Amino acid sequence: KELYLNGAFVAPEQAMISVMDRGFLFGDGVYEVIPAYAGRPLRELEHLERLQNSLQGIGLAPPLSPSQWSPIFRRLLSETPTADQALYLQITRGVAPSRDHRFPNAPVPTVLAMAKPMKQRDPAVAERGVEAVTRDDIRWLRCDIKATALLAAVLLRQSAEEAGAEEAILVRNGLALEGSTSNLFIVRQGRLITPPKGPLLLAGITRDLVLELAAVAKIPCEERDITAEELRTADEVWISSSTREVIPVTRLDGVPIGSGRPGPSWQRIDRCYQDFKADLRRA
Ligand code: PLP
Repeated sequence: KELYLNGAFVAPEQAMISVMDRGFLFGDGVYEVIPAYAGRPLRELEHLERLQNSLQGIGLAPPLSPSQWSPIFRRLLSETPTADQALYLQITRGVAPSRDHRFPNAPVPTVLAMAKPMKQRDPAVAERGVEAVTRDDIRWLRCDIKATALLAAVLLRQSAEEAGAEEAILVRNGLALEGSTSNLFIVRQGRLITPPKGPLLLAGITRDLVLELAAVAKIPCEERDITAEELRTADEVWISSSTREVIPVTRLDGVPIGSGRPGPSWQRIDRCYQDFKADLRRA
């Protein structure tokens, strides 16, 4: 299965990057993950807009415009046109002659895109939900940049794994912000609540879609801070991401959330989300 690297489509074995690439040496790059259903990327422009924001956040000019990305996506997805796939895009500040933290004068970014199959959700997730743990947010203060430097997220996600949990929900100064690889929603008294966008969390594309679907479904929504206490005593807790969609969290730190089962609001939103995907596949 070929991938896209710096203007060419090549077999993965042929795709080579220098050890002097700043992505390798410093994690000096940004990325995107775009889900695609039957060859149709979900919210392509929104993902590309977020990529532009991430690039701007690290002071790198966009190497490709949205209209230049589109045909690349089509070609990468065309090998398995009916499958659900995730597009992965990564742009680094490229190769520099020496390992110097300072930006090179005229950076030539390294641009990578590839598609991989997206696995179906395990039916047990919809039946029982998943377990999450809370962890102190040890990440930096620019979590709005989708940076390839993911060491804190790696350690947090592994810590959840070792606790037998699907996700680590991150708490900073008493506020629950998002998961290590997902956004966070709670339901209290029929209202859907998610933390506001800002530098301390990633502006999830799925998050925005969930808010839109909730508005259509007439579920009242609030974008406001969520305290760790509100998280624990919520009726429902969900996490969202492009590859995992919307997942109900039914145990937190070993304690049941609400009824301990996926809740009615989640069931409504999940139905809307599955319908949205079905429409996209048919589009
Ligand atoms: N927050 C973090 C830290 C993430 O890594 C991700 C995605 O992987 C998300 C939120 C969800 O973003 P999206 O819905 O755009 O996939």
